[in-house]
Amino acid sequence: MSDPMTVIAQHWDSTPVPIETIIRDIGLPLSYEAMSDNISGYIEREDGSYRIVVNANHAPTRQRFTAAHELGHYIYHRDLLGEGVGDNRAYRADGTDRPNANIRPIHERQANSFAANVLMPRHRLVAVGGESTAALAARFGVSQEAMRIRLGR
Ligand SMILES: [Zn+2]
Repeated sequence: MSDPMTVIAQHWDSTPVPIETIIRDIGLPLSYEAMSDNISGYIEREDGSYRIVVNANHAPTRQRFTAAHELGHYIYHRDLLGEGVGDNRAYRADGTDRPNANIRPIHERQANSFAANVLMPRHRLVAVGGESTAALAARFGVSQEAMRIRLGR
């Protein structure tokens, strides 16, 4: 396993940020499986570590956000994860078959903030005032909604 922050720093100047590469370089298996539409993905314990699984049916931008969100759980909530946790479309465990009483709304917010920070690095968003939200979202591989929130537009 490699230090997550070191790996992120190595890839943070690439656009879009290569979240798949980051997760795999850290040493976490990442895969895509067809799930019902209300499930974004999950992280689960495997062989003494964790693996991340993302809903193969979702749009690539949502898949990237989900992968980054699950990585956030790994980095910040490893001690709470136990067997893992599922994430529905709203990035809560409700309605998934992977509940985890340790993971509270504040942890979900932390994972969402982490995902936004990783996929839309602040240092890459300076001086973008003249660019449309749509153009920036396309460039960074995120949804327009995610970019709008990130920019406070
Ligand atoms: Zn979550």
